[in-house]
Amino acid sequence: MQRLVILGSTGSVGQSTLDVVALHPERFAITALTANTNVDIMLAQCKQFQPQTVVMSEPSAADRLQQELASIGLGHIEVKSGVDALCQVASSDGCDAVMSAIVGAAGLMPTLKAVQAAKRVLIANKEPLVMTGDLFMREAGKSGAVILPIDSEHNAIFQCLPVDQHKRGVRNVHLTASGGPFLGRTWQDLSTVTPAQACAHPNWSMGHKISIDSATMMNKGLELIEAAALFGLPAQQVNIVMHPQSIIHSMVEYIDGSFLAQLGSPDMKIPIAHSLSWPDRIESGAKTLDITEIARLDFQKPDMENLPCLRLARRAADEGGSAPAVLNASNEIAVEAFLAGRIAFTDIPTVIEAAMNAVGHCDISDIENVLNIDHEAREVAIAQLDSLS
Ligand code: NAD
Ligand code: MG
Repeated sequence: MQRLVILGSTGSVGQSTLDVVALHPERFAITALTANTNVDIMLAQCKQFQPQTVVMSEPSAADRLQQELASIGLGHIEVKSGVDALCQVASSDGCDAVMSAIVGAAGLMPTLKAVQAAKRVLIANKEPLVMTGDLFMREAGKSGAVILPIDSEHNAIFQCLPVDQHKRGVRNVHLTASGGPFLGRTWQDLSTVTPAQACAHPNWSMGHKISIDSATMMNKGLELIEAAALFGLPAQQVNIVMHPQSIIHSMVEYIDGSFLAQLGSPDMKIPIAHSLSWPDRIESGAKTLDITEIARLDFQKPDMENLPCLRLARRAADEGGSAPAVLNASNEIAVEAFLAGRIAFTDIPTVIEAAMNAVGHCDISDIENVLNIDHEAREVAIAQLDSLS
C-alpha cells in the first residue's frame, strides 16, 4: 500500500490523480489532501477518500471545512492551514509519495521539503523546477528521493530514456507542442482576445494559469527549462516541435539516428498512472488511443517570429542562473493580470521582458537566493503593470 499526499488536490491534475487512485483502492491510501480555498470540492474529496489530514491555505477556508466535516461525522479529519502545514504534510513520516500539483511558485517549499525528506515525488508543478534550475535534482541526489515527472512531455521523455536514466547516446530531446488555441495566428492580431478564448485549449482541459501559458506558448518555454533541469541536459539539446494533434507527447533522439517516442490520448491520467505505479504499470482509466482514427500526425517548426514568450524563455534558458526565476515570477504576475482583465493578452511578454531587463543577473546559490529573486522580479513586474494600465 502506497501512502500518498496530494498537494493541490482540488485542481485539474489533483482531481485526475484521485480519479486514478479511485480505480486502485488496494494500492493507494490517501494520507493528506491540500488546496487553496475550494471548500466544496475538498469536502467531497474528504467524504470519498477519508484522508487523515487536510491543509487549506486560507485559515477562513480551513475553519469552514472543519465545521462542514464535523456536521457530517468526519470531525476526526485534522484540518490545518498555512505554508508550514503544507511543508509538514509533504515531509511527514506517515507518507511514501507526494503528488506536487499546486500551481506556480506557491508549490516550491512543500515540494522541496518532500524531496529533502526522500519521498517519491511526482512533479506536475513545473514552476519550482524552472525557478531553481538543478537545485531540486541535487537535493534529490543528496536525500535519495525519486523524482517522477508528470508533465506529459517530461513523462514521455522519462519513458523513452534508458531505465537507469543515464543519458547514454542521447543527441537531443524533442518536446512536442500543440500550439494551443491560437496556432497559426499572428501575434499582433491577438491583442483583443479574452481570457475565456485563451483558456479554450483544443486538446487538454487544464487550470487557468497553464491554459494561458499554453496560449502564449510560455508553457513550452517553461517546459524547455524544466526538461533541462530534470534530465541534466543543456538547453540547446532541448528542441521544440509543433504537433497539433497532441498524440506524440515527446521524443528522444539518439546518436545512431533512432527516435523513441511515447504516444497516447491527451489525458493526464496516463502520465499520472505511470508515475504512481512506476516501475509497474496500472490501468489509468484514459480512453484507449485508436491510431487508425487519428490517421495522421503533423509536425512543423515553431514560428519564433510570432512567439515572443517562447523567445523570452529561450533567452532565459541560455542566460541560466537567475534568469528563469525572473521569467517565471514576472510571467505569473502578467498572467494573473490578464486573467483579471487588467492587461491585454499581448502585454504579457512586454511585462516579462521589462522584468528580465531590469533585474540583475546572478547565479543561484540556494533557496533563499531564489526566493529573493522571485520577490524582486514580482515587484518589477507589478510596477510595469501600473505603467501599462
Ligand atoms: P489548477 O489551477 O487546476 O489547480 C491548482 C491547485 O493548487 C488547486 O488545488 C489549488 O487549490 C492549489 N493552489 C493554488 N494556489 C495555491 C496556493 N497559493 N497555495 C496552495 N495551494 C494552491 O492547476 P493545474 O492545471 O492542476 O496545474 C497544477 C500544476 O501542474 C501547474 O504547475 C501546471 O503547470 C502543472 N501541469 C498541469 C497540467 C494539466 O493538465 N492541468 C499538465 C502538466 C503540468
Ligand atoms: Mg506539458
